[in-house]
Amino acid sequence: MIQNSTKTRVVGVDISLERTTCAIVNVRGDIVATDYFVTADYPQIGDYVAMLSNCILNMVENNGGISSIRSVGISAPSGNYQTASIENSPNMPWKGVIPLAAMLRDRLGLAVALANNAHVMALGEQAFGAAHGMRDFVIITLGHGVGSCIFSNGLAHLGTNGFAGEIGHTCIVHNGRLCGCGNRGCLETYVAAKGIVCTAHEILAESSHPSMMRQVEHLTPKVIFEFCEQGDALSIETYRRAGRMLGLGLANYASILNPEAFIFTGGIAQAGHWLLDPAYEVFGQHVFYNIKEKVRFLSSTLDNRIRNVLGASVLAWEVKEYSLFK
Ligand SMILES: [Zn+2]
Repeated sequence: MIQNSTKTRVVGVDISLERTTCAIVNVRGDIVATDYFVTADYPQIGDYVAMLSNCILNMVENNGGISSIRSVGISAPSGNYQTASIENSPNMPWKGVIPLAAMLRDRLGLAVALANNAHVMALGEQAFGAAHGMRDFVIITLGHGVGSCIFSNGLAHLGTNGFAGEIGHTCIVHNGRLCGCGNRGCLETYVAAKGIVCTAHEILAESSHPSMMRQVEHLTPKVIFEFCEQGDALSIETYRRAGRMLGLGLANYASILNPEAFIFTGGIAQAGHWLLDPAYEVFGQHVFYNIKEKVRFLSSTLDNRIRNVLGASVLAWEVKEYSLFK
């Protein structure tokens, strides 16, 4: 008997250290159902894959059945699209190279695509968010690290080995701060969470000026941002310095790529104009003059988790449907 079933749904999966979110998404980009579990509860990869496949199967069972699902897309930290594996993630509990897409495909009998968070965020922003209609743009993720994904001519530029876009580990200060990657002066040592707190401590040590930051034992970027909002001068100076480093890094990036826009996501991007105004000022001073004022700085307006599962669903539509008869 010839079956002519049109599969109108995919599953998008967003993996972060905090939680794994799964969603069924239809062809229009509507989220039909979601479920999630705590990622860190499964430090063994075998247990994790079993949990992930059960989570997907239960959700699908209650919402139209497995026969309606075409494929699965996964957003993962340190995910490599070309190998469909998580490769040597510094933050996740599973070490080494984890062929997660193949492991899940074998359990579900569905095609599975996998990419890193920045790539999936870019797909989500292009389909549903700030990059809608753009062909050349760069997503910048600002959080515990600084990542990026380059879209060129409407497609993600991944590089020969799948590691293109590591802006966080480009050198911004010769012989500067020591980075987790082993090099010195990387952009993320000034602009990611730890770097911002480090700058705050430097500023506090430089002067005896009063500051709300002096009253806090454990400074975080969020706390410093809140002090900015209350007009605390040294907190504002902290984000101003981070912004100036970011602007310099982005000027180099834009002079090479000539993008239409940079789109900022992640926790540190929540600092908004305290970070991005000084960044844009320094950007203007250093970017190649013919593209000055032609590159837009935009903040993502989508909810992070929704954008990421939607981006993962876009990834799922791109993968070839699974078949045993190939
Ligand atoms: Zn580095």
